[in-house]
Formats: sequence, structure tokens, C-alpha cells
Amino acid sequence: MSLIVQKYGGTSVANPERIQNVAKRVAAYRAKGDQVVVVVSAMSGVTDNLIKMAKQIMPLPNEREMDMLLATGEQTTIALTAIALHALNVPAVSLTGAQAGIETDGVHSKAKIKKITPKQIRSLLDQGKVVIVAGFQGQTMEGQITTLGRGGSDLTAIALAASLKAGLCQIYTDVDGVYTADPRIVPNARKLQEISYDEMLELAGLGAKVMQSRSVEFAKKFGVVFEVRSSLNDNPGTIVKEEIPSMEDVVIRGVSLDKNQAKVTVVQVPDRPGVAALIFKSIAEANINVDMIVQNISHSNAVPLTDISFTVDKPDLLKASKVIEGLKEKVGFRQVIADEKIGKLSIVGVGMRSHPGVAAKMFETLAASGINIDMISTSEIKVSVTVDLAKGEEAMRVVHHAFLGA
Ligand code: ADP
Ligand code: ASP
Ligand code: MG
Repeated sequence: MSLIVQKYGGTSVANPERIQNVAKRVAAYRAKGDQVVVVVSAMSGVTDNLIKMAKQIMPLPNEREMDMLLATGEQTTIALTAIALHALNVPAVSLTGAQAGIETDGVHSKAKIKKITPKQIRSLLDQGKVVIVAGFQGQTMEGQITTLGRGGSDLTAIALAASLKAGLCQIYTDVDGVYTADPRIVPNARKLQEISYDEMLELAGLGAKVMQSRSVEFAKKFGVVFEVRSSLNDNPGTIVKEEIPSMEDVVIRGVSLDKNQAKVTVVQVPDRPGVAALIFKSIAEANINVDMIVQNISHSNAVPLTDISFTVDKPDLLKASKVIEGLKEKVGFRQVIADEKIGKLSIVGVGMRSHPGVAAKMFETLAASGINIDMISTSEIKVSVTVDLAKGEEAMRVVHHAFLGA
């Protein structure tokens, strides 16, 4: 007998019929004698809709109330999934994140899991029940409901798999696995049989929303091997695991496009020590993650001035702009420009370490298509550039073609 954690994303539980389909799959595993913990997301579109409603009332709603609101999405699905299992005569109990023992810090909308105490899960499993846990949510020590960032049900599943020492962790979604690029944008993308944690982490962090990047980080840290596969068929999926030497033979594992980034430019900042520190400390204190940073020096004035640009997640743009505006007197810059129309295109692969010329080939490919590069950043296993959002998908296809054929 093995303990399996299965996670079903929004499209896999999009309507009662899909939920019944999930229940059938869970029942089949249980019939084989396995213990099953099921993590479900909100039905597709529900979280977005809740956010939209709140924003209709005010643009920057209180974060505690947002978590209270968003947690309801998953709470609907757990109960419906339990009911669907009951209809198949399978004993099942639904648990909220708090009831499942998921304790987080107090950073609303992107809380980190601090500890899991799966006492109640264990005891229900021991009673022969299927346990259905609401993804994406937890509770602080003080009893406040928190959420784990968009796509956070992946994290719930992987953290539970680690905590319960599950024999198998399966992430069910609406595609057959992890592809060389988003198959909805690049029709010729291929399904990967396996991918290393580091590559998956980069792809996820750079826009391949098939896995939440924090969940992959967690999986790497605790050595949770997991499979990404479809809830709509029985095809084998993609195994995400520790790197093995042969993985370096492939130069580029995948291409991703992040349309969820925005650029903030602080214009004409006095070029003196401590200014960048002040800007990014203030941004960090507002719990905003910064990705790319570019600084240019201009010597045209008596006091050297510089432009500082950085990227943040689109939902954080308003908050980031406000934080910077608040520093205007102290820093003495000219203005803040917020640009939502950027796309971040990245190529990822551990093979980059041993194959030179990868960045040059990417830049040449974009140039040949007349696509202008704005910001650039690189790391050991990735090259990222920002381009005009309108050109993002075309850029993705030509770069995929250049490195991965087809
Ligand atoms: P779920 O609701 O199951 O969590 P998501 O919508 O979060 O599913 O993630 C699945 C989607 O991720 C797919 O429908 C696909 O369009 C997108 N995606 C982006 N990049 C990739 C990739 N490299 N491989 C597979 N899917 C990808
Ligand atoms: N429902 C949440 C979201 O849409 C969490 C998830 O689907 O994983 O982001
Ligand atoms: Mg998801």
C-alpha cells in the first residue's frame, strides 16, 4: 500500500462533470489499496472572478480580506469533490488548509508554509478515508487565513507529499505534461519525459505557469519527485526530479514567455551611494519581488543622473509605483514610468553550461525577425530578454524553432 498525493488544477475541476471524473480516478487508485490525499484548486476562472469583483469595489483591496475571499474558491471544490466520492460510495472528508494543519507566515497573498502538522489527515487516512485538502490556503499561528500565491495549490500538494512522505506525487492538469514551450502558443512544442528541478524552477519562474515556481523550489529542497500529467487521459506525464548527467547533453530544455511582468523606470535618479539600496529596500519591505534590474548612467548633467529600471509582477505594479513615488522627496528623481506592455522571453537548459554561444544565437534569431530586445539578464542555466508584449508570442515561436526545431 502506498500513500499518493494527487493535485487537480482548476480546469480539471471546472464543472460537476469534471469533478465526477476526478472522483472516478481517485476511486480507482483507492480500489488498488492506496491511501489517497487529494488537493484541489478552485474551479477554473473562480479565483480570477473573485479578484475582479473585489477590484471593482476598490483598486487595492485589503490583503487580509482578499485572502478571506480567495480561500472560498478552493473551499467550494473540496466539498464538491467529497460529495462526488460519496456518490461513488467512497468514504471521503474535505479539509480546509487550516484543518489540514498547514501553518504559514502572515504575508497575505503570498504566504510561506512554516510547518505542516498533518495529524488530522493521518487519522482520517487510518480510518480508510480519502482526504481532500483545499489547495492554495493556510492559516497563521494566530488563526488568520492566508493564501500561497497564484497557482499555490501546487505548493500545497508538494508540501503535503513531503510532510506525509508520500510514495507518489501527481500533479494533474489540462496538458499531458511539461512541454518545451507552452503548447497553446507554440503548437510544435514537445512533451518532455523528464526535467530537472532547476530547469523546471527556471521555466516556472519565467512564465511557464504549468507549475508554481515556489512549489518546485519546495520539491527540490525536500527531494519530492513528482509527475505532471493530464486529468483527461492516461498518458504518462513528465517526471520532475534531481538532475542526472545526461541532461546536460540537451542545450535548451524549454522556452517560456512571461506576460505577467511589468517594468518600472525611475527617471533621472541622482547617482550617489545608497540610492539603489533605498529604492530596493523600500520595495522589499512592501513584499514586492523584483526580477530584472537595469541601471544606466547619463553624464549629461552637472550632477550625474541615472535611470533605474526593474521588473515586478504585474499585480504588484501599482503598489511598486506608489512605493517609489513615496521616495520622491528623499531621493529627488524626476518621474516614475510604469510599463505593462512587456513580455519576458527566456530560454532554459542545464546544457547551457557546457555549450557556448547560446545567448548570441538567441539574440541573432530575434534580430532576424526584427524583434527589439529591451532588458537582458542571464544566469548559469537561462537567458532572459524583455521585448514588446505585442511581439512576445512571435518571439517565442522563432526562438523555439531555432533551438528546438519544428
Ligand atoms: P492548473 O489549473 O491545472 O494548475 P495551469 O493553467 O496552472 O493548470 O497550468 C497549465 C497550463 O500551463 C497549460 O494549459 C499550458 O497552457 C500552460 N503552460 C505554459 N507553459 C507550459 C509548458 N512549458 N508545458 C506545459 N504547459 C505549459
Ligand atoms: N486557485 C488559485 C489560483 O487560481 C490556486 C491554484 O489554482 O493553484 O491561483
Ligand atoms: Mg496551476
